[in-house]
Amino acid sequence: MAKITLDNLAHSYLPNPTSEDDFALKELNHDWVDGEAYALLGASGCGKSTLLNIISGLLHPSQGRILFNDRDVTNDPTTKRNIAQVFQFPVVYDTMTVRDNLAFPLRNRGADAAYVAQRVQQIAGMIGMEDMLNRKARGLTADAKQKISLGRGMVREDVNALLFDEPLSNLDVQLRATMRTELASLLGRLNTTVVYVTHDVTEALALADRILVLDQGRAVQLDTARAVFSRPATPWVAAMAGFSSRLVPQVVRHDESTAHATFGGESLRGQACGEGPDGEPHVFIHPDAVTLAEGLHAVEEGTVSGVVQSCVYEGRGYRVTVHVADAGQVTVMSPWALEVATTVALAIDPEGVLVFGRAA
Ligand code: ADP
Ligand code: MG
Repeated sequence: MAKITLDNLAHSYLPNPTSEDDFALKELNHDWVDGEAYALLGASGCGKSTLLNIISGLLHPSQGRILFNDRDVTNDPTTKRNIAQVFQFPVVYDTMTVRDNLAFPLRNRGADAAYVAQRVQQIAGMIGMEDMLNRKARGLTADAKQKISLGRGMVREDVNALLFDEPLSNLDVQLRATMRTELASLLGRLNTTVVYVTHDVTEALALADRILVLDQGRAVQLDTARAVFSRPATPWVAAMAGFSSRLVPQVVRHDESTAHATFGGESLRGQACGEGPDGEPHVFIHPDAVTLAEGLHAVEEGTVSGVVQSCVYEGRGYRVTVHVADAGQVTVMSPWALEVATTVALAIDPEGVLVFGRAA
């Protein structure tokens, strides 16, 4: 177990990078706290694997240092870093039995036979393969092989860190959901520093204490899962967290934390955030923040009126699309049907409103 420090770290795959655009990973300073589980979340190509491979030593960074418990390991090979890494594709020895595959990392380190037998049994139980220990890996399904890979990753208890690179992304949907839940409880019981790479928001939420969000090689937010989803730092994170954006005519910032935006002719309060997309003022509204208000017209702060455009039954209620003048469409759930072309008032909870953009 170790604290992992990234010190002025950056990486370019080009031999002579000139501009920031040449860097797959922009300069990053960060401590991964010992024993915490982190998700590295971002779209495909944003630099997640690059960062993970630098931590494990598969890749030498073009700039900066990496430290384990304050010791510089930048030039140490993978074997000296004492980490375990699980990849997207299974890494198993086909000619070996499941048992020998699981035991391999332990035997390789000279663990004694009694401990190996006991630990392999324990891990086999965790991944649900106790009945298959004597089977050769050859001939097992891709899903089973990936479970072995996960087991091999977790078998050693003395690693500095456990690194996962999208280990569930090639499993079928059903198994992915099951494994996500199982892995969440497994990781909760481990005392190891975990870095879990994923592009899947649900996985990040389920598996990590904290989430580091990467956008085009840049670390844009590091926070608890709750904070990432209630106070996204950038428009891109907000969109990923399920907020939908609207271009607005004007933003008035009051202080560090609150701002108003002109929205549907009203003044809509929300959390003051940074620069808007393309430098334009925007509000981002979370779908859960919008409810039908009493009465037909905007009567108080946080309430806007609009005209019903469509109303579709969805089992748990009606999904109603409302057109708000100058602000576009807003969706709200209603327990009863609403007639098209009628005017309704919408209450918008300021907690679910992000106001991006400089004050005019
Ligand atoms: P992710 O894991 O988030 O999908 P990667 O870290 O694999 O992203 O890639 C980040 C960027 O670096 C991408 O633009 C990718 O094309 C580029 N890249 C990755 N590996 C190499 C490589 N070996 N050589 C050159 N460019 C690479
Ligand atoms: Mg990757």
